[in-house]
Amino acid sequence: MAKLRILKVGDSTLRKVCRPVDAITPRVLTLLDDMAETMRAVGGAGLAAPQVGVLRRIVVIEVEEGQLIELINPKIIAYSGEQESEEGCLSIPGRWGITRRPMHVTVRALNRKGETFDITGSGMLAKAFCHELDHLDGKLYIDCALRMLDTE
Ligand code: ZN
Repeated sequence: MAKLRILKVGDSTLRKVCRPVDAITPRVLTLLDDMAETMRAVGGAGLAAPQVGVLRRIVVIEVEEGQLIELINPKIIAYSGEQESEEGCLSIPGRWGITRRPMHVTVRALNRKGETFDITGSGMLAKAFCHELDHLDGKLYIDCALRMLDTE
């Protein structure tokens, strides 16, 4: 496994729309492993492929330690409720904002075997689903933040 470099806001790669994965190749599996290692190394709760320079619809999330969620070609298929809470991003270090996100989110995705599965998350996990899936469409949380919590 290898730790990857995380692109920072201002890099145009973060603003591009990612293409779906059409075949789960060894390269995709290696990317999933490397993304998880990179996320854990920096203490993040989620990482999307464009953040490491790969314009493919791949996300890893680990809101609860040891519970890694790998999402290939994820789509939000249902959501409900509402939460306002702090949000940050590994590509926007040192900044935090308040966002409004659904409280419950269900995602449909492929796992690393190419099988379709649905997963529902609430609270932090719901927020992570929204945040990371937005990355796949070139969107950052600062675009939709109600306000930023900058110290200056
Ligand atoms: Zn992010």
